[in-house]
Amino acid sequence: MKEFPARDWLVASEVGNLLQTAKCDEGKIREVLAKARELKGLDAADVAALCQIGSPDLAEALFETARTVKEQIYGHRMVLFAPLYISNVCGNDCTYCAFRSTNKGLVRTALDMDGIRRETLELVRQGHKRLLMVAGEGYSAAKGGFNYVLDAIRAVYDVTEKHGHIRRLNVNLAPLTVDEFKLLKDASIGTYQLFQETYHRETYAAVHLSGKKRDFDWRVTAFDRAMQAGIDDVGMGVLFGLHDWRFEILSMMQHIQHLEDVFGVGCHTISVPRMEPADGSDLSMAPPAAVSDADFKKIIAILRLAVPYTGIILSTRESTAIRRECYALGVSQISAGSRTNPGGYSEGEDANAHAAGQFQLGDHRSLEEVIADLAESGFIPSFCTACYRLGRTGQDFMDLAKPGLIKLKCDPNAVTTFQEYLIDYAKEETRCAGEAAIDCELDKMGTKARRNAEKMLSHIKAGKRDVFC
Ligand code: SAM
Ligand code: SF4
Repeated sequence: MKEFPARDWLVASEVGNLLQTAKCDEGKIREVLAKARELKGLDAADVAALCQIGSPDLAEALFETARTVKEQIYGHRMVLFAPLYISNVCGNDCTYCAFRSTNKGLVRTALDMDGIRRETLELVRQGHKRLLMVAGEGYSAAKGGFNYVLDAIRAVYDVTEKHGHIRRLNVNLAPLTVDEFKLLKDASIGTYQLFQETYHRETYAAVHLSGKKRDFDWRVTAFDRAMQAGIDDVGMGVLFGLHDWRFEILSMMQHIQHLEDVFGVGCHTISVPRMEPADGSDLSMAPPAAVSDADFKKIIAILRLAVPYTGIILSTRESTAIRRECYALGVSQISAGSRTNPGGYSEGEDANAHAAGQFQLGDHRSLEEVIADLAESGFIPSFCTACYRLGRTGQDFMDLAKPGLIKLKCDPNAVTTFQEYLIDYAKEETRCAGEAAIDCELDKMGTKARRNAEKMLSHIKAGKRDVFC
């Protein structure tokens, strides 16, 4: 395996220089925003300039540009998923997380395969088609070591219920070796997701007190190993609140550039987790570099312009109100109806749930409530998993996305999977609102996409399932 030492491509001094020298006069900002409208992305100096925006007028101009870019590329689609926490057992002491090894108050659970199947069944019954498997870093030898994760993936894909099954399982797991990544790929995962937490080495060292995760370089080079193992959809993120968000975004740009230079494709998604209060974590109660709501919206908008074809994922860490404000700024995927305690879906909100969860959630609505809200706000909730199942990943996906061709697939797939949900899982009221939203969406489609969508919708209404293009 070829190694790419992080110090060669992740250069903190360059980020510092960019932030110090960034021109942030109105003329420059408007020039960068005009460039962003060309949908070709932005370079690091442009991103540094946008990071300096202070005036409300320029912030509004940034948001307006982000809304336009988001609509041009993603239309009104919003992909839905749920996290599936299989274990909160962890050997690391990350000072912001309730799963940290030193949190003795936490009820520890590593679900067995029956438990994982129960959780999956509950999520399938709600209508989910796409899950994100999440675990602490602590697969004990007694539980089969890393095989525990592979068995868990198989257990999820095995669950079938009368209306469906999980069609795409993404994972958020601690960094692996190339050989382990190969096993993950063979197990048919969708995206491999990993958050660097912070790209600032000193902060990283200060907040990761013990365990394997202390090794910054092992973590920051994980995508190199994943890509060498053949996983070409990777998802990045930082935990906003640990260090200055401007530094984090620019460092992330270096990371993406590195992947593009070496593997020809950057990251498939970026997640924007903001630190939430977690039991057993004083740090999480007062994040050292807390990000305000106003800055959080700027982060999403800047990322949308910087890497227009990269999905942005917003979780239920955020409140309903903030989520609503952020959708149009660039978010393309959201979680809904989430639980962060292993067993939380099938056990319901019992007394133990809070004691075993990872952090406090901001949006407690059910999947159906989120869907009804999206449809009323003009979005088309989508359960599409077509790209991954047709092998449109990595470079192949970008080759379709960049010339705008992917819309011809995404728009019909979104309305079709939404219609499937409405027939199989929704209440009458939601179904009516959803079908009205689909009719509106069809009116906005070009001739070719509309023809395709109508054909696929007629199959769904005739009882066929899992129709995609
Ligand atoms: N244990 C693995 C790891 O750390 O990479 C994977 C799963 S971990 C449960 C998923 C993510 O949760 C972490 O990468 C971190 O960014 C996020 N997280 C931890 N504590 C958090 C908190 N208090 N608020 C918001 N997100 C948090
Ligand atoms: Fe463990 Fe991940 Fe939480 Fe750190 S963030 S304590 S590695 S679960």
